[in-house]
Order: sequence, then C-alpha cells, then structure tokens
Amino acid sequence: MREILKRAIGEGREEIAFGETASYIPELGRVDKNQLGVCVYTSEGKKEALGDTDVRFTIQSISKVITLAVALERCGFYKVFEKVGMEPSGDAFNSLVKLDLSSNYPYNPMINSGAIAIASYLTPIISFKKMLEITRKLCLDEQITLNSDVYLSEMANISRNKAIAYLLESKGIIASGSVQESLDFYVRMCSLNVTAESLANFGLVLALGGVHPETGERLLEEDVVKVVKTIMLTCGMYDGSGEFAVHVGIPSKSGVGGGILSVVDKKMGIGIFGPALDSKGNSIAGRYILRSLSRELGLHMFS
Ligand code: GLN
Repeated sequence: MREILKRAIGEGREEIAFGETASYIPELGRVDKNQLGVCVYTSEGKKEALGDTDVRFTIQSISKVITLAVALERCGFYKVFEKVGMEPSGDAFNSLVKLDLSSNYPYNPMINSGAIAIASYLTPIISFKKMLEITRKLCLDEQITLNSDVYLSEMANISRNKAIAYLLESKGIIASGSVQESLDFYVRMCSLNVTAESLANFGLVLALGGVHPETGERLLEEDVVKVVKTIMLTCGMYDGSGEFAVHVGIPSKSGVGGGILSVVDKKMGIGIFGPALDSKGNSIAGRYILRSLSRELGLHMFS
C-alpha cells in the first residue's frame, strides 16, 4: 500500500505546477500550494498516511456533505429536496446563472446555492456549536476548530454568495430575513479546520454506512448515507463530476481549501490535501492521486 501511495503522490505532485490556490478568499490564496498529503483508512482497520496529512486546512465545500446529512436526518428527505434538486448542474460551484434563468431551484446540495438553502433550513433548529460537535464525531477528530482567519477573510469577500442568498430569498426558497444568518452558518461550516486524516476517517464512516469504524456506534442513519454518497458521485466534483466518475469512479467531494473526501464503499475512506486547484476548484494533484489509486487498487465502482 505504501508503495502505491508513493507512486500516486508522485503522479499528483507533477500536476501542482498547473494549479493555483483559491485566491478569491485571500486567506486561502496565501496557503503554500506545494503541500500534498494522502491518508487511507481501510475497513480492516489499517491506516496509511503519506505527506502532509496532519496539516490543518479548511474543509470548505466538503462541509456540504455534513450539512446535507444532518439536514436529511433532522428535516427529512422531502423537506430537503422540496426546493433543492438532485441533478448535476454542469456549472461552476458558485454560479447563479441557471438559478435565475432556467431553473427555479438550486440544482443540488453540493453547489453553493443548494448548500446555502440547506443552511437556512438548519439555522432555526441547530446551533453551529452542535454542528461542530457532529463534525468532530464524524471525522473522529476532536481537534477540529473554526479557522477564524479564513472565516473572516471569506465573510469580507462574500458578495457572490450574498447575491445567491438574496436570489434564493426572492424566490421564496429561503425564508425572508434569513440571508445573513444562513450565510454566516454556511461560511462557518466551510471554515472548519480538518486534516487529510480526518477526511479519511469520515470517508470510512460513510463507506461503512454511517457506523464508527472502531466502536460500531451508529453516527448517521444508513438511508441518509446512501443518499449522500449518491449525490457525492453525481455532483461532488462540481462540473468535473462526470469526467471524474469515468476516470476514478469513487464518490468524492472536494473543497477549495484543497481537500478531497473519497468513499470506497464498504472498503475505505480516503482523505487528500493538495491546495493547488484546477479551473473548476478541485485539488489538481488530488484528482491525479485518486486516478492512480483507483487504477492501482481497482477501486473504480464498476471495475
Ligand atoms: N466557502 C467556499 C465558497 O463558498 C466554498 C466553495 C468550495 O469549496 N467550492 O465559495
């Protein structure tokens, strides 16, 4: 396994030069783009970590997986998907074009519009503190905290997400008057500091259908996890989801902090940190690492 990880990291590293950090959030723009780490945690209890796997970085859009799971549990399937779709958008994660032109609802919960809508369903019923507790539990990582520098940096550059939120409010998708608190909740969730190892842990919890890999405790309902993994497969890499599914074939979710969470069903969780992003906002080295691991270990869901 170690040799396979080494080769995969090598393949990923070659791509870093072609990527950039997410400078639209200035604090993320300052991160060293050459960092790279991958952690694999298998259902047999083996954990293998290589590179920068204990470096903290912000979870960003990977938090959309957590908010979706919590919303499905607390609000129910019909409330969540009443005004948020299940279809890939084919557009950038922060696009609002189709939201106004051709669709009345956000395409899915993995893009900003869908996640902000879901944040608005959660703010009246659950505190950020509770969400932090849940995140720590799901990632088997008690050290997760809010990165206030990144939080403040994003809040100071929030115009686009604000535009999305007001558009949602104007369409009655989020309750009137809830824009500010929904955005605050959304950005706080994006600003949680994780590691590649925490993502591998979370990936294994999802791979096992929502069960803690060491204690067997149920952390998420099984049917919720099934929905979440399916949406990760079809929408988790934004407008790169289709190509990624063909080449890698592992349900995954990326974030502009450089993280990728991957779930090899029943077998393993994979966590990656590589802050150089491709033009779609996905970790460029991460994509190549996963492509290599999928090939070498036969992890494609249809292989
Ligand atoms: N906080 C980021 C944003 O809203 C998350 C985007 C992402 O990770 N793709 O722009």
